Amino acid sequence: MNQLKKMAFAKRRTMFLLVLFACLTGAVIIIQAYYFVKIVDLVFLKAASFDAIELPLGILLAVLFARVIFMYAGRRTGIKLASKVKREVRETLFVKYARNPIQTSLSGQTGRKVSTVMDAVDEIDSYFSSYIPQIIQTAIVPVVILLAVFTQPAYSGLLMLITAPFVPIFMVIIGIKTQKKAENQMEKMAAFSGHFLDILQGLTTLKLFGRARQQTEAIKKSSSDFRDATMEVLKVAFLSSLTLEFISTLSIGLIAFELCIRLVVFKNISFFSAFFILILAPDFYLSLKDLGSAFHSGRGSMGAVQKIADELAQEEQSISWGTVHLPKGSPPPAIEIQGVKFTYDEGDFSLKDLNVSILPFEKTAIVGPNGSGKTTLLHIIAGLLEPTEGLIQMNKRRRSEYEEKSWFTQISYISQNPYLFSGTIAENIRIGGDLGASMEEVEKAAEKAGLSGMIQSLERGIDTAIGEAGRGLSGGEKQRVALARAFLKRPSLILFDEPTTGLDLYTEQILQASMSELSKNSTVITVAHRLYTIQDADQILFLKNGRLVAAGKHKELIETVTEYRNMVFAQQGAGTE
Ligand code: ADP
Repeated sequence: MNQLKKMAFAKRRTMFLLVLFACLTGAVIIIQAYYFVKIVDLVFLKAASFDAIELPLGILLAVLFARVIFMYAGRRTGIKLASKVKREVRETLFVKYARNPIQTSLSGQTGRKVSTVMDAVDEIDSYFSSYIPQIIQTAIVPVVILLAVFTQPAYSGLLMLITAPFVPIFMVIIGIKTQKKAENQMEKMAAFSGHFLDILQGLTTLKLFGRARQQTEAIKKSSSDFRDATMEVLKVAFLSSLTLEFISTLSIGLIAFELCIRLVVFKNISFFSAFFILILAPDFYLSLKDLGSAFHSGRGSMGAVQKIADELAQEEQSISWGTVHLPKGSPPPAIEIQGVKFTYDEGDFSLKDLNVSILPFEKTAIVGPNGSGKTTLLHIIAGLLEPTEGLIQMNKRRRSEYEEKSWFTQISYISQNPYLFSGTIAENIRIGGDLGASMEEVEKAAEKAGLSGMIQSLERGIDTAIGEAGRGLSGGEKQRVALARAFLKRPSLILFDEPTTGLDLYTEQILQASMSELSKNSTVITVAHRLYTIQDADQILFLKNGRLVAAGKHKELIETVTEYRNMVFAQQGAGTE
């Protein structure tokens, strides 16, 4: 909360404007009351003619108009403040999420993050647009009114001083109760968003397992939980308005009663003074009451404010980059992995003390059971994850010394499920290389990746829209698009997560041909499942539970490492080669 408050108070100009408008509003309230009383006094008690009240009447109208203007200007400034702070918070969140997009997307919970950036940030609106401006108003306006009242005989002022604290006291009591409820409401909201998105993304799986109906129930429940939580907050809100209304009405009544007794019984106050105080009293309580409502909506935002503060405070590993430029088309690197350890923020998986040397042009296969850390190692080599300890060196320089952009122009990472952006096939291939690549080059890359057949069968050919907004592609086709990207890019290091499923003969041939063509100019590291890749590798890294159990050529490992032999035989038996 403090962090966000600081953000608001750091906007000096806005703060100055808010204070200025509050002072002006205070002054205008006093002048308005003065002229109102003066006119009534002149007309009813002194029986003045219309001519005599023309001027005060004109001033009163002008002052009323000014009050509206100042109120409007104050509100506007508040709204501007809120939109500035919201933009700043969103930017900070985006920068945070973008600083390490891989870690962010690998750790999942996209729904929760979207809900933080969109809904939670919107929720903090009232904290800045009404709560903070109102605090400033209430710190100024009642004090100005009180000063004016104290220029008159003192009892009423004292009464105001005594009754005023009841408003904030009730406010605080109610506010504390609401905060928990508001936090609860935010939690329900986040749970609902997360749940909804998860279900949308996993719809196919749910349908296949016949769970769609149950999930409908689950969505219903989580949305009605959210509704109930909202209703709870509203209930307290309405109740608190009622209470505050009650307190201020009672206090005004008390002051009116006191004035009446002094005017009629003791006759120790003039009509002018009494009426002046009576006119000011409602305004005095009004601004306290307004603080009450603003405080309440501000409290309602506290849940969201807290959520954002927590999100901002959450440390995520970031990847550091240097300034060493790698010219395009650099020769394939030698890779040195020294004492590398890695642990995920969540869960208890870790890679333990890896030491590996990979020579330029070498073909390395990473093998091991599921969950042994093969993909994690590939991500670390790619520079998508930062090792918790140890060194990764490329050509005798640390990975972190290289410039980020030129590093990634040297690498092609072909994952199991490459991402397709919404756009045409050509556009999707083109992002692999310079965006200025000619259509000819793109077509050539597609051909080398074995996409020609598929492209020819499409009505719009290479200009067919794919991805989110277009035609879907099969897993194998997606990988071929990724291969085409690699052909266009001509990387010096290729990281390849092989498909786990058995491949048909055609795909197998394409893969084989593509990889041997690509590996002519690069160092290749593959998470391998096919016997072809494994046998052909210059070096095999056999991982188990995050530990490098053995490293060497296929023949050596088959002879010396029983576990490796068993794994290869099991795969052969299952026909995954
Ligand atoms: P492999 O590729 O060998 O199947 P991975 O490298 O994908 O294995 O995963 C190794 C282990 O790390 C698994 O136990 C997996 O659950 C865990 N893991 C993977 N990604 C994350 C993550 N983002 N956060 C926490 N644990 C993870």
